[in-house]
Amino acid sequence: MLLRDLIDCYEKVGSTTSKLEKIDIVASFLKKLDDRDIPIACYMLTGKAFPEWTGKELNVGWSTLWDCIRKVSGVSEKELFEAFDKFGDLGLAGEEVLAKKPRMHLYREPLTMREVHRFFDLISKARGEGSIKKKSTLLIGLLNRASPKEAKLIIKTITGETRFGFKEGLMEEAISKAFGVDLELVRKAHMLLSDLGEVALIAKKGGEEGLSRVSIKIGRPVKHMLAEMAEDIGEGIRRYGKAVFEYKYDGARVEIHKGREIRIFTRKFEDVTKNLQEVVEELSENPHEFILDGEVIPFHRSPKSFQLLMRRLRRKYGLEDIAKKVPVRLYVFDILWLNGKSLIDIPLKERRELLEKTLSQTKHIKLAEQLVTSSKEEGEKFYMKAVSEGFEGVMIKDPNSRYLPGKRGKHWLKFKQKPESLDLVVIAVEYGHGKRANVLSDYTFAARDRNGELLPVAKAYCGLTDEEIEELTEYFKRIAIKREGRRFIVKPELVVEVKFGEIMKSSVYPSGYALRFPRIERIRWDKGVDEIDDINKLEKLFEMQKRKV
Ligand code: AMP
Repeated sequence: MLLRDLIDCYEKVGSTTSKLEKIDIVASFLKKLDDRDIPIACYMLTGKAFPEWTGKELNVGWSTLWDCIRKVSGVSEKELFEAFDKFGDLGLAGEEVLAKKPRMHLYREPLTMREVHRFFDLISKARGEGSIKKKSTLLIGLLNRASPKEAKLIIKTITGETRFGFKEGLMEEAISKAFGVDLELVRKAHMLLSDLGEVALIAKKGGEEGLSRVSIKIGRPVKHMLAEMAEDIGEGIRRYGKAVFEYKYDGARVEIHKGREIRIFTRKFEDVTKNLQEVVEELSENPHEFILDGEVIPFHRSPKSFQLLMRRLRRKYGLEDIAKKVPVRLYVFDILWLNGKSLIDIPLKERRELLEKTLSQTKHIKLAEQLVTSSKEEGEKFYMKAVSEGFEGVMIKDPNSRYLPGKRGKHWLKFKQKPESLDLVVIAVEYGHGKRANVLSDYTFAARDRNGELLPVAKAYCGLTDEEIEELTEYFKRIAIKREGRRFIVKPELVVEVKFGEIMKSSVYPSGYALRFPRIERIRWDKGVDEIDDINKLEKLFEMQKRKV
């Protein structure tokens, strides 16, 4: 199928405000496609280049993209700036300047969806030394063949603009409609596979039977189950009667897949196997095949700082050296798959039993400390013990709960010792003042609203070291989408943990809330933008704050 057919579909979707019509348009488009095009259409219509679980990224910086557009269109720096100023969007600016170019590409073969996808694949694979040059060459080749409208779509996919693309929830509905399968089955398969393209293909070829056979599998990371904030220690007991209390470890969430080989993934689906070799070695003695869920923390006699762990996990070279400097421990709290069988639908208490039978504790691998009780006092004591040993707090879980990948809900609650902070995403950055005039040191943070939109809730100037600010300045320039004088709008991908004095009602921010005295506690390189907090949490914290006064 041609790329221009996909763009037609996009335009039709954009021309109606009716949700049902949008779903119908996408469903009939999907029905027309052959099997190889279906997955590509699912990714590109949701504004993505690749399925989520692969962790693959295009990684084309703003300035590279800018230079490529200039080269292909032949416009001057000033002309591109003018177009950019007019729209405030590089995709639209690219479309305009390319429309001015002599129409050489019309004599070439039109681009197919598959070709674009192959280009995306090659661009993402260009890594290491000389990668910027390789990416530029590929991108210039692609844009040279693209019509202005096609270029707009390509550019917007690269910048990862958030308002672009059909929402994933709607795509699930379109898949269900296109292939006449139950929506709930589509949602579940999506939750398990993190790949809408694959789900659509299964729906088409295997129907409802195929979808109901979808299971998690070794080597394919699944999203982690997430927790909601507990109001107090007693909440779990009030909710579940008997509750599972576990220590809350403050590190990075990891998923361990042990089949023929062992692979360890972060919550962003990055493969960190090489960074955790002592864990791999100890696990390789184990005769079973499994998928485990746990938290790896920096540990030497007691828990150490989270920043040290990030340094170790982000390291690409000198891995043995940093492993000695930052020893770690893996605390395992769940098992999702064992010797050919998925365990996610059996209750937590049974999963824990299987985990204890399967995993022997070794020097670097431990089972999460646990207490099952219906007594609030015992829960409190357990919490005090966790904190006195240097851990972050407790998790309180429903012993009868299934494992729900990617879901945040009331089956798992978290209760921390430190005052609650918020995980927010940086959406804009600005040059500072005085000695920080040449670095991007002022950040605007956003939380998610109920529809998944990102809404600003705070601006902070401090909390990071000079070294971190310098590293981030380079980083933000690479992911900038738009420049407005001294300010850049950046691709929303860097998650930071923000502390604050209090939450206020705000008439300035559209979210209705603003943080007073915000400061960055730490950079969460391990978390992705889909894991940031939502306005509900701000609301809840605001209510709790009122009760304390
Ligand atoms: P937070 O990052 O504050 O939202 O807390 C939730 C996170 O705590 C999870 O995503 C895990 O990374 C981490 N965690 C630490 N200990 C546990 C545990 N025993 N069970 C589940 N999650 C845990």
